[in-house]
Amino acid sequence: MPVGFALTEDGNLITLTIPSFTATGAVVHAFTTRHTGVSQAPFDSMNMDFKVGDDPQNVINNRERVCVMLGAGLDRLVAADQIHDDRVLTVDFQHAGRGARSNGDALPGVDALVTAEPGLILSSYYADCVPLFFLDPFSRVVALAHAGWKGSVLRIGEKTIRHMVERHGCRAANILVAVGPSIGPCCYEVDEKVVAQVEKCLPGASHCAAPGRPGHWWLDLPELNRRVLLQAGIKAANITLSGYCTACREDLFFSHRKQSGRTGRMASFIMLSGG
Ligand SMILES: [Zn+2]
Repeated sequence: MPVGFALTEDGNLITLTIPSFTATGAVVHAFTTRHTGVSQAPFDSMNMDFKVGDDPQNVINNRERVCVMLGAGLDRLVAADQIHDDRVLTVDFQHAGRGARSNGDALPGVDALVTAEPGLILSSYYADCVPLFFLDPFSRVVALAHAGWKGSVLRIGEKTIRHMVERHGCRAANILVAVGPSIGPCCYEVDEKVVAQVEKCLPGASHCAAPGRPGHWWLDLPELNRRVLLQAGIKAANITLSGYCTACREDLFFSHRKQSGRTGRMASFIMLSGG
């Protein structure tokens, strides 16, 4: 199992990339950091989301910078209005630009986006939740899924894979998955209510939740997602973990928990090449 996203400097932007995805030559992609944007504190400086109270023009500027680096315009971007649920949606060029310049026309009630269209940019937004990236380099299909604890126990990773297989003819054994920077087991304390749902999702989930204070556990969301992905037929060698905790690395990321809610959002982007 490969560990480690690569810290990348490209066109004056600092982002993270996934070595196994880059090696296919099939996609351009990025996970943004909090650096090299134009937003002011507490959104400094690369805030990617309209919903946190930042100046919308700064969000548009930040998104445009990344789109330029990826080699396509912001009008090619698709964004969903994420609600911590498990709905997966295939998008194509009729959705291009939805949610790109305002949250008002983002695709409602969707937490995972799938496309087989080269040149269409999928995007998804984060500050501690788990970003999942998917690529089938043979069928040429990509996806992004937003997995906080709710999406994780709803198995949104597995549901995205099933969607890629049933709707797009992918084979699970061919799909590469990357688990991006999220809050880690070092920093993510949860209560009985959450751990009961984890236990329901993965019976005997002690490997994902370590006991802490009475009635509390330290939850390992990346590991929970990795185990769900393995059960969905993804090969261990095809799963990359980021190696980063967003709360430990405030120097690099926004963290909802560490910054008590008032902060920016990172984003994941992926686009099939050749559009
Ligand atoms: Zn941590």
